[in-house]
Amino acid sequence: MNSSLNAARRRWELDEARTDVVDVLVVGLGATGAGVALDAASRGLSVAAVDAHDLAFGTSRWSSKLIHGGLRYLASGQVGVAWESAVERDALLRFIAPHLVAAHPYLLPLTPDVPRTQAAALMAGYRLGDALRAASGTPRRLLPGPSRVAAGRALALAPSLRADGLRGALLSWDGRVVDDARLVVALARTAAAHGARILTRCRALALGGDGARVRDELTGEEFDIRARAVINATGVWAGELTPSVALRPSRGTHLVLRPGALGALRAGLHVPIPGERARFALVLPQADGRVYAGLTDEPLDGPVPDVPEAPESDVAFLLDVVGTALDRPLRRADVAGAFAGLRPLVDGRVGAADAASGPAGGRSADLSRRHAVLRSPDGVVTVVGGKLTTYRRMAEDAVDAACPHARASRTARLPLVGAGPVRPGTPGRLARRYGSEAWAVRDLMREDPALAEPVALGITRAELVWAVRHEGALDAADLLDRRTRIGLVAEDRAAALPAAEAALAYS
Ligand SMILES: Cc1cc2nc3c(=O)[nH]c(=O)nc-3n(C[C@H](O)[C@H](O)[C@H](O)COP(=O)(O)OP(=O)(O)OC[C@H]3O[C@@H](n4cnc5c(N)ncnc54)[C@H](O)[C@@H]3O)c2cc1C
Repeated sequence: MNSSLNAARRRWELDEARTDVVDVLVVGLGATGAGVALDAASRGLSVAAVDAHDLAFGTSRWSSKLIHGGLRYLASGQVGVAWESAVERDALLRFIAPHLVAAHPYLLPLTPDVPRTQAAALMAGYRLGDALRAASGTPRRLLPGPSRVAAGRALALAPSLRADGLRGALLSWDGRVVDDARLVVALARTAAAHGARILTRCRALALGGDGARVRDELTGEEFDIRARAVINATGVWAGELTPSVALRPSRGTHLVLRPGALGALRAGLHVPIPGERARFALVLPQADGRVYAGLTDEPLDGPVPDVPEAPESDVAFLLDVVGTALDRPLRRADVAGAFAGLRPLVDGRVGAADAASGPAGGRSADLSRRHAVLRSPDGVVTVVGGKLTTYRRMAEDAVDAACPHARASRTARLPLVGAGPVRPGTPGRLARRYGSEAWAVRDLMREDPALAEPVALGITRAELVWAVRHEGALDAADLLDRRTRIGLVAEDRAAALPAAEAALAYS
């Protein structure tokens, strides 16, 4: 079946979903829900998957974009979580999304604030992480091992580091997805290619073991979707639909720094947080030229907002910590934008069989990052917690729990849309975002040269038209905030809005 998602397909599949009984209804289309839709559909099950907003509307677009081997879980003794991360990272790098996920280097500067004993312990941790890499089957060619580099080399990779007292740096590598929201879109489209009905702007109002009451947010119409199994994958909102699920959301903020604020960065940075043993601020140069700096970990009190705000206190904290490693302090004027996401951490106090076992009442930074698959008395299966990196394993576990008689999961080696060979001569930026589909995006520009015009960050009008025709973008916010990330900087968003509206009209 075709992988293209668009308004016309949504309309007809919505009509079908209202009358059919599907094997699995998935609620939520972040990485987890889109992963569940793909896992179930690729086992031959019939699937409907709904999201109240858009693909990747929730936490999945606010991550640090690391596809990580779980190094920090090793530091806290969670070897099983680290191993699971390393295995999933390997699958993404080698089989599932080699066009979207690649190795990226990180420096940990050895400043006077990092004592030699701590540096030795950190290097031992990186070596352990490298052993997990080897054991999970990832070749060095895809993910190089760690090394210690001299100060001169560290400064060549990150010229804005403070040279004064720099003893060198620890250089390590980890996986990175070019854009977390694009990973979700690729998952949803691959699920659609296996027959899943992907229905955005459809809010589940109430869930039961045999389906859901749903509202089409575009028309206000309410209807039922009937299903043999229901999987709640609504992340930090899961408790709103399944009240027995207890979460302790934690806010993580990233800054978007103005180009040039940190010079020509060729590696990310791990900046030790003063007073903490194994926590770091991250400086994350992006493929589109922007640089993110993150991230905080603050418990959220009160209701869960649709789009969390990044408070000034988080901004000030990050500027301070990152500044400790730089030759000049970062200023508020260096910040072009900021975004925050809510980690759907499982409250260890729920005591469910598969739930994470974080210390009740502890700091959110200490809560386990393990995922949980929970069955409520009405038969709804909720999958929550975990990480972007482990979405596939979470999906497999959820479908195993909801559909015990289904055939085994096939996703560990299943390539996503775009994962095929890239034609020679394809520009690198297009290859990293579209993989084997890049030629089709280029063809659009050849058919109508006006579509080759750049909008922002090197993104062309053709990519916006492509997103409307094939990636399920229904409005300008879908285009600017999720199919592209232009919207992370308010001025860029305002400047690109007319192009987004033109793309919707063009398509
Ligand atoms: C700041 C931060 C940084 C992170 N960095 C990393 C990282 O670098 N690497 C990593 O591996 N992990 C990272 N994580 C963790 C990772 O991002 C999350 O675990 C993951 O994205 C959660 O995905 P999800 O699909 O479960 O939830 P979400 O992405 O939140 O998806 C839930 C979806 O449910 C929908 N929904 C809600 N209510 C309803 C309803 N009633 N009806 C229909 N739909 C509904 C929402 O619109 C949303 O799209 C980070 C998390 C945070 C907060």
